[in-house]
Amino acid sequence: MSESLQIYDDRLLAIVSPNTSLQKLANGAVHSEGPVYFHEDDSVVWSDAHGNRLLRWSPTDNVSVLRDPSDYQNGNYRDLEGRLVACSSGLRAIIRREQDGEWKVLVDRYQGKRLNSPNDLVVKSDGTIWFTDPPYGITEPNQGYGGEQEQPGSYVYRFDPLTGEIYPVVTDMVRPNGLAFSPDESLLYVSDTAAFNIPGGPHDIRVYEVVDDHLKKGRVFAVIEPGQPDGFRVDKYGNVFTSSEDSVQIYTSDGTLLGKILVPEISTNLTFGGKKGDSLFITAGHSLYALDLNTSGVQQ
Ligand code: MG
Repeated sequence: MSESLQIYDDRLLAIVSPNTSLQKLANGAVHSEGPVYFHEDDSVVWSDAHGNRLLRWSPTDNVSVLRDPSDYQNGNYRDLEGRLVACSSGLRAIIRREQDGEWKVLVDRYQGKRLNSPNDLVVKSDGTIWFTDPPYGITEPNQGYGGEQEQPGSYVYRFDPLTGEIYPVVTDMVRPNGLAFSPDESLLYVSDTAAFNIPGGPHDIRVYEVVDDHLKKGRVFAVIEPGQPDGFRVDKYGNVFTSSEDSVQIYTSDGTLLGKILVPEISTNLTFGGKKGDSLFITAGHSLYALDLNTSGVQQ
């Protein structure tokens, strides 16, 4: 049995081999976040969010620096054309790397007022970008450039990069952070990590029904402990893989905790990838880790 695994339910063994082991691919970041996989060059791009850099790893090139400074870039994703889209905590914006390598601000305001500091994002199959907007880039000196909060709350937004339309889809969370769609995009999972710096605050993942590009009132899917569900992903079977303080925790779509992949540093975010799509890349502490799975993600 792998020392990386804690098994609470044998269904875990269908998606994680008992002999799989966690590999450290890279270290040296101040605080690793936001991994995204690119099959074109078999690479993982991730943010050294507190080190204000964007990093890249591939099996052939090892580690390189893509952006320095990165304006405190945090969550990363790829759009339908394979471009890197990201949350800029420093610019308080959603940004995109164009084909010529230039970075473009796609949106930084709602109703004429600056966003707080976008933290994490997903791209839906229709090309719209759904992102969370907690104030960490304003309140935490190592995550942005400070400034005044102009929005009345911390919302989750739906943004259409083709039309520029933006509107909130969740307004009742304290510190929305990670988010991911279910495989058929009928559900959106969103984490609230308020307990990070608000004693007694939520540290849970909520699930919302997606109806006509809006969300119906959500419910708590799972309370995550120890620590926070900063970022998470959903595999092709609908299982939720979430970061926490001691591990990556794996839940079925009905909220049953199947087990844990123990990680020696505090995990922040994760993504599926690899040539067959069955690798899990985990950002944690100063490092980037990988683990082989018997499942794969929805988006490739
Ligand atoms: Mg986050």
